[in-house]
Amino acid sequence: MSSTASVAALLTIDADAVVANWRRLAAMAPAAACAGVVKADAYGLGMAEIAPRLAAAGCRDFIVALPDEALALRPLLPAAARLYVLGGLFDSDDVAALYARHDIRPALNHLGEIARWAALGARLGRKPPAAIHIDTGMNRLGLGPGELATLLAEPDRLGGIDVALWVSHLACSEDAEAAMNAEQLDRFTAALARLPSAPASLANSSGIFRGPGFHFQLLRPGAALYGINPTPGQANPMRDVVRLTAPVLQVREVEAGMTVGYNATRRFGEKTRLATLAAGYADGYHRSAGNRGVVHIAGRPAPVVGRVSMDLITVDIGDLPVDAVKPGDCADLIGPHNPVDAVAAQAGTIGYEILTSLGARYRRRYAPLDSRNSQ
Ligand SMILES: *Cc1c(COP(=O)(O)O)cnc(C)c1O
Repeated sequence: MSSTASVAALLTIDADAVVANWRRLAAMAPAAACAGVVKADAYGLGMAEIAPRLAAAGCRDFIVALPDEALALRPLLPAAARLYVLGGLFDSDDVAALYARHDIRPALNHLGEIARWAALGARLGRKPPAAIHIDTGMNRLGLGPGELATLLAEPDRLGGIDVALWVSHLACSEDAEAAMNAEQLDRFTAALARLPSAPASLANSSGIFRGPGFHFQLLRPGAALYGINPTPGQANPMRDVVRLTAPVLQVREVEAGMTVGYNATRRFGEKTRLATLAAGYADGYHRSAGNRGVVHIAGRPAPVVGRVSMDLITVDIGDLPVDAVKPGDCADLIGPHNPVDAVAAQAGTIGYEILTSLGARYRRRYAPLDSRNSQ
């Protein structure tokens, strides 16, 4: 595509690639089930589009962070699908009752939540299912060593609960060399040996790549489903999922000594040409990519020059033939030549933050990436 009427940045999301990524991760652990982590609107890519496709592919376990995310997701899923909320009960009987009504399972993060969920079960006259989060070193959520000891000493605390899943979360999973991976695995395994038997889950996306010992009975990938590389430093085994294009609004020549953009942060040593693109930090193109980012246009990389503005970025197209770029042409901000992880590195962040910051101003379409223009 070159100069069709592109009036706003366009975000193309390949939901089939998400499903292919899920199948690929699931195949790495044939004896385990593979969940779909779809919190934060499926990492910004649209839970309502993606979760039903994962369910149709056979995914039976879905994971979100917040009660509202679970309420939005429940009607989109088959009745048999299990839906877990990592944030737990939020210290609230109302939230607990809501979960019970809508067949939503909390991850219980401390003894108070276990007691609250058991009390709800007593009122309902049944044992409601839940995951229980065991902290093995992340120190964010989950029962710490003291609470775990209490639970082991007083197993009746679990009497009113159907423990459907033991969960723990890795702190350094993307780093194959980190000693903490094995330490957390050891702590989790030791805890499981003393707890009532139930399926267990330790591995996020990168954790799956740490080996079969990390797989247990349920994988919990998020990022890798959405094309983020779970093996940094090695080739990305996942398929790309997003392409973000923005139209050129104007092309201009600048003379040696001129500057571009707010605060004149870039001064040109020689005459060059610039293209101004209709996307900026309000669209999730991070301001930290000013003078560092690279877009792809007319088959070539073009560096972002000057500050990223709210609605605009400027790129140097001086290396391209004159007339190679015209207003109405599109540049890839994210695409096959500049995937999410590369864009993240240029902006000094991680792919997770790039995806979850994608703004609401894009036109969005769900379509295979390979059917779109390759410029
Ligand atoms: C977000 C999250 C995941 C998914 O992690 P990825 O690195 O995106 O695969 C899994 N488990 C927990 C507890 C999480 O918070």
